[in-house]
Amino acid sequence: MSGPVTPSEGEAWECHDSPKKTHVERLSPRRAVVGGFDVARVLPQRARRMIGPWCFVDVMGPGVATDSVGLNVGPHPHIGLQTVTWLIDGALLHRDSLGTEQPIQPGQLNLMTAGHGVSHSEETMNFYHGPIFGVQMWLAQPEHTRHTAPAFEHHASLPRITIGTADITVFVGEFHNVASPARTETQHVGVEIILAPGSTILPLNNTYEYGLLVLNDAVRVDDTEIGHGELAYLGTQRDEVTLTSNTTVRMLLLGGERFSEDVLMWWNYVARSRDEISLAHYEWSTKNPRFGTVATDLPRVDTRKPPWDAHL
Ligand code: MN
Repeated sequence: MSGPVTPSEGEAWECHDSPKKTHVERLSPRRAVVGGFDVARVLPQRARRMIGPWCFVDVMGPGVATDSVGLNVGPHPHIGLQTVTWLIDGALLHRDSLGTEQPIQPGQLNLMTAGHGVSHSEETMNFYHGPIFGVQMWLAQPEHTRHTAPAFEHHASLPRITIGTADITVFVGEFHNVASPARTETQHVGVEIILAPGSTILPLNNTYEYGLLVLNDAVRVDDTEIGHGELAYLGTQRDEVTLTSNTTVRMLLLGGERFSEDVLMWWNYVARSRDEISLAHYEWSTKNPRFGTVATDLPRVDTRKPPWDAHL
């Protein structure tokens, strides 16, 4: 669960969307393949590159890990971002260049802070066979932390609250005065919502912008029907949102204060300039100690130079 290991467009994403006030905008994901597994890429999209500091969201599966097929992504680099791993079904093993070897199960959080540079792998091989369903997200790090040392956190248990018919797990940030223990570097929130049949009004922070990702079935968001796999962008300056369903619906609500820095994303790097990305990628490709090594049998992942360096 590790991001755009194959750059599908051969281009970089410059992120400077304009925020929109309270409304509901329906966005559909693109299909991609990561580590041999089908994924639905929810962010970035042309119409919506970021939601607060959330700059990348992949929904992995549902699928099945077997002897021959699984979610196996060999060591690859990151800079300038935090990876947020959330499982709905199955199990995965995270390994990184800090020496971490951490299994993750549904309801738990893996949070890796890349800073100046880290590498990691995600695998089911020799570890887990069975259903796999999860979400891999990235948070862009702000200027004041993005050059610092890498770090990793695992949170086996997270705070839960009930509001109306919604059972909510706060995996990062704070929601309705309930805070996750996970490290934060910007003002943002990520929660999982299990909405039982009925209608519930959720309180929101009116200084944040929000997106609601529907992971099964369908839900009415205010007056707009949002289908399975779709993202509802909710805009900003909103005190609440009304969610209505006839079935039990699982969703992620991601929000945060608008990210004020212009971000440049290419492959597994989140930066501000082409030069920074070119240097990081040169250092990954030449096995510079900046990215360390990961103790795994999976082969390391590399890709061609950035398109702006193709002539070199
Ligand atoms: Mn990754």
